Amino acid sequence: MVNAFSFACSACGKCCNSPPAMTLAELFRHRDLFIGYIAIGRMPRKRTGERLRVGPYESVLDAADVAAFDTLADTLLYRVGDTFSITAQGYDYPSVARCPALEDDGRCAIHLHGKPLTCEVVPLDPLVPDTLQHLVLAARNQSAAYLGADCIHEGERDGAALLVRQGRVVDANAKDALERRRKALAKEREVWGQAVFEALRKELFDSPAALARIPAGGFRTISIVPALLTIVAASARCRQLCVDYIDSQIALIDRCIAHALLRRRLDDRPITHELRGFGDAYRRAKAVLAVPLAAATGSAAGSTPCAVEAYLSGAICL
Ligand code: SF4
Ligand code: SF4
Repeated sequence: MVNAFSFACSACGKCCNSPPAMTLAELFRHRDLFIGYIAIGRMPRKRTGERLRVGPYESVLDAADVAAFDTLADTLLYRVGDTFSITAQGYDYPSVARCPALEDDGRCAIHLHGKPLTCEVVPLDPLVPDTLQHLVLAARNQSAAYLGADCIHEGERDGAALLVRQGRVVDANAKDALERRRKALAKEREVWGQAVFEALRKELFDSPAALARIPAGGFRTISIVPALLTIVAASARCRQLCVDYIDSQIALIDRCIAHALLRRRLDDRPITHELRGFGDAYRRAKAVLAVPLAAATGSAAGSTPCAVEAYLSGAICL
């Protein structure tokens, strides 16, 4: 079977049905639009001989495929038996069924002003080796059809960019977006992810009972405060950036909850409960940060203070 897929986005907005995964820098930039949180996901480790199948497309993983997955995991993810992702995400009520940046005409309000890299990389997946991106596209083709979109096509198509062919990403823009998203994920790991992973080791990653509550392919959500508490140590400026971010987020959470209370939907209640928890975590963090530091305490997770400041300010130093 020829594993070639083409893609042409008409900006219909049908896939913008929830907030995207974002970097911490992107969340800081769009602090009044997206509520940030951390998603911890479990991705079972790939094994040689494992079959991956989507419709008529099937791959039996060989040693090179598994090595490619492992290389991505070593630089972008976290290993504890299985592989885990620790990513920053935007949060909203699922009942709203739209990204907060989606305009009523289906356009992205931040397309020209810092659209998240996750959205630029669509429909590819940076956590899958390039040689297997055709399976990602086959799966997303099914999802797009479900959404009523017609943007992914098997084989070549006039007016659509050929993205992958015979195990290679062949479109220059797609290659560039994949590379930038992977670099951004590696930077996230360096700036705060590894420190949060270590901080959660005892209560989560070294606890089989706690880990069992994250199913394969599933994820757990936590407040983004542990990431903030990692980076406040970088410099007084980072600390102030985090305090400003917390203020914006508390105000945004209050606005979102107020809108939800007006909708009066039963299925919004657990989300309101979780958002109140995020708000409480922010208020506790703010109280901790109100205590003045004698001096900047050094760097966050090995990054120099100025690099962390530049990163949070949106000038991503990759
Ligand atoms: S559903 Fe397809 S065409 Fe519509 S915005 Fe998403 S990627 Fe573009
Ligand atoms: S940020 Fe823009 S492109 Fe991304 S999901 Fe939201 S509306 Fe869509």
